[in-house]
Amino acid sequence: MRTVYLDNNATTQPDPAVVEAMLPFLREQWGNPSSMHTFGGGVRRHVEQAREQTAALLGADPAEIVFTSGGTESDNAAIRGAVEAMSPRPQVITSRVEHPAVLEPCRWLRDQGYLLTETGVDHLGRLKLDDLREALEAGPAVVSLMWANNETGVLFPIETVAGLVKAAGGIFHTDAVQAVGKVPIDVKHTPVDLLSLSGHKLHAPKGVGALFLRRGTRMKPLLMGGHQEHNRRSGTENVPGIVALGKACELARLGMEADNRRMAALRDRLQAGLLSTCPDSRVNGDRTARMPNTTNISFEYIEGESILYHLSDLGVAASSGSACSSGSLEPSHVLRAMGIPFTAVHGSIRFSLSRFTTEADVTYVLDQLPPIVRKLRAMSPFVKK
Ligand code: PLP
Repeated sequence: MRTVYLDNNATTQPDPAVVEAMLPFLREQWGNPSSMHTFGGGVRRHVEQAREQTAALLGADPAEIVFTSGGTESDNAAIRGAVEAMSPRPQVITSRVEHPAVLEPCRWLRDQGYLLTETGVDHLGRLKLDDLREALEAGPAVVSLMWANNETGVLFPIETVAGLVKAAGGIFHTDAVQAVGKVPIDVKHTPVDLLSLSGHKLHAPKGVGALFLRRGTRMKPLLMGGHQEHNRRSGTENVPGIVALGKACELARLGMEADNRRMAALRDRLQAGLLSTCPDSRVNGDRTARMPNTTNISFEYIEGESILYHLSDLGVAASSGSACSSGSLEPSHVLRAMGIPFTAVHGSIRFSLSRFTTEADVTYVLDQLPPIVRKLRAMSPFVKK
């Protein structure tokens, strides 16, 4: 059976060149980079090369990159670490559409007595900047707002946001897990203090990520024990993962422009094809400020899960809402925050492409999906017959 993988915001296929780059560090060069002997110490320069490759994708200095186990750790470390290092006690500001890796540490801090504001979004998922301006008036803040939304692909105006936070004397963290590798980022020109990224969203394996920590930004480390990463993240380095992340960042930097153009053209063809062949379908989220690889489409009056089930039988992988919430039938908190009607939230499907998506993949979905929608609508109790 044909496989068409359109769930790249959940995870991506490791690039074959990335796998090649990491294998020597599983087979021969498996030493500990902190060792004094050359067997381990020889590995150190490869970790440092990966740091340079990761920094180059962000316009950062290599010394500003801290390797972590992934997006969730980077988000937790950034938010808790910045809040605990700030004195006097700051308030915390985030948005209602963040990933749980941000929302949950923020809500945990609220339970510890910190003031928390969750700013809203409009019906297209765009940040309500006035909510942010108003919240910033309440005093020094640690602000965490995502660069790109994992469910809709909508981009927040991070340059404007960072400017507002810095003007108010706050610390700004952005969860750029979905943006890195697909959105040009240059921290020399965008005054973010902390930025999270994750390897498995950009064709490196799972279990590795990084945190950009601007020089001079104070952060209390989440993990204590060793002295790795200059005391900013203890724990023996995941050398194969780090080398893989470095390679993936280099590939993303070199290929981003061409990959984005191709992905956007394929995504637009998929989106236009589905909207024209499936009545009562709509795109969720802003179509202009959006990642090139994502479209979130609601097929009204039917269940997204039923669509996914039928697609999966035909070898097509997509997602309804974020991967973390699938498995539960909880409607997406992102679409609800946007005020999307109940019947549309339940019938929403996220298609997320990658540089490995082909024209034939899109053609296959355009052939297979409309009959599924017709069949499910014929059975739907919500459709007048
Ligand atoms: N932040 C966003 C926006 C994400 O999409 C994800 C993963 O889906 C994460 C954080 C968590 O990243 P990781 O899976 O590397 O822990």
